[in-house]
Amino acid sequence: ALHCGIVGLPNVGKSTLFNALTQATIAAENYPFCTIDPNIGVVPVPDPRMDKLADIVKPERVLPTTIEFVDIAGLVAGASKGEGLGNQFLGNIRETDAIVHVVRCFEDDNVVHVAGKVDPTGDIEVINTELALADMASVEKALQRAAKASKSGNKEELAKKQVLEKVAKHLDNGEPVRSLNLTEDELKLIKELCLITIKPTLYIANVQEDGFVDNPMLDQVADYAAKEGAKVVSVCAAIEAEIVQLEDDEKKEFLDELGLEEPGLNRVVRAAYELLNLSTYFTAGVKEVRAWTVLKGALAPQAAGVIHTDFEKGFIRAEVISYEDFIACNGEQGAKDAGKWRLEGKEYVVQDGDVIHFRFNV
Ligand code: GDP
Repeated sequence: ALHCGIVGLPNVGKSTLFNALTQATIAAENYPFCTIDPNIGVVPVPDPRMDKLADIVKPERVLPTTIEFVDIAGLVAGASKGEGLGNQFLGNIRETDAIVHVVRCFEDDNVVHVAGKVDPTGDIEVINTELALADMASVEKALQRAAKASKSGNKEELAKKQVLEKVAKHLDNGEPVRSLNLTEDELKLIKELCLITIKPTLYIANVQEDGFVDNPMLDQVADYAAKEGAKVVSVCAAIEAEIVQLEDDEKKEFLDELGLEEPGLNRVVRAAYELLNLSTYFTAGVKEVRAWTVLKGALAPQAAGVIHTDFEKGFIRAEVISYEDFIACNGEQGAKDAGKWRLEGKEYVVQDGDVIHFRFNV
């Protein structure tokens, strides 16, 4: 499954956020290097459409789809040279599919800041510099190999060398590889490097309870992200950690008091889902209403394969009703009567919200 790595300097609230996301209880101690092992958390994706479907279908159970987060140990300046737990966590970041970068935008004298003061832009730059340095080291090594191998006139190695030179120059200019807009072919040539700064990235501004507006620290993150075309989600991790502890009715009351419709975590999860380029389809039967995840642009057989590989192998047709039609027609029969029920083949591109029933051979 695709997963997001949560990165950031020590003591910015990564563990607090991760724990809230997974409702797990990993120690969030107030000192650097406490989160050593990468912790994987499987997090349900909140989607109000499921409840609407359930209102109509009245299934025995409702199952959300999930997304994985990995809590990656505190990055520090010098990590790419092996400072702190440098190499270990850089390796962990390489394995992720997207990066969720947590930035401290709260003041708290009781929580030590590794650089001595809260400085969002500086903090982001420390992390991004380490990530870029790690990429530069990989690119330089690969470039040496490609230069050597291409001497014999090997076309692929020559092409690789050219891409790597372009990437090296971009990194030298202080730009992340994701902003280089490489072609599919170029990307293929450097895929094996598992570059870090090529991964889609989103910034989480961890603010104080009252820090959502008129907060210059938050503005710094917004400015930085805007330059990269990246998204920013602001949350107060400490509050989120409290909210997840509450029973449902208490939760509602607490959110009402804060003037919120839903926990801020929902925004984090949805933004991460979007970052990974994922899309949701539903199955809706009397046994269960369930949400499933596919990559955007997935074809019907691939979507079937998410449920079971046999569904993909034996795929015949997909019975499809769009979410809007399903709701508007009050369910499958209504959609059929209204001519909104479609039989789609193996070239069908699954649309977000589709309610699907697969026909397959076993
Ligand atoms: P990590 O090192 O980035 O994983 O940071 P932690 O999640 O362990 O948090 C470090 C300290 O900051 C802990 O004492 C948290 O309780 C505290 N903390 C996290 N988020 C917030 C917040 O939004 N506001 C305040 N005041 N403290 C926070």
